[in-house]
Amino acid sequence: MGSDCLFCRIVAGEIPATVVRETPRTLAFRDIAPKAPVHVLVIPKEHYADVATLAEGDPALAGEVLATAAAVAEDEGLLGDGFRLMFNTGAYGGQEVFHVHGHLFGGAPLGPMLARDLA
Ligand code: 5GP
Ligand code: ZN
Repeated sequence: MGSDCLFCRIVAGEIPATVVRETPRTLAFRDIAPKAPVHVLVIPKEHYADVATLAEGDPALAGEVLATAAAVAEDEGLLGDGFRLMFNTGAYGGQEVFHVHGHLFGGAPLGPMLARDLA
């Protein structure tokens, strides 16, 4: 994917990011526009468009992304009070960057799961 993908460019070091954890196959960095006191994006270094594609293509790597998110949650002191891990997917999910990323939110009560009840 490379140069067309913002997060591939972050992995390549072409765009700066505040990295909080790196493993051989994953990267975690702070969101540029945080929506909570802690807002970290957790990605596989390899390009997958979304969480469904990642889970289908490399379930072990999906597990590594979760493990990195959990490690960041621990580093950020979120395990006691809790946190939210969210993968926006596709149009209805509000996904804007099509390189799979988990949003790790914490550091304050996060409110309802959805802004509105859509049921
Ligand atoms: P999505 O809507 O795709 O789930 O989330 C994309 C996220 O990427 C947004 O929260 C946005 O603030 C973040 N973002 C967009 N561009 C950059 C960037 O250049 N650097 C970082 N660190 N985050 C970014
Ligand atoms: Zn990418």
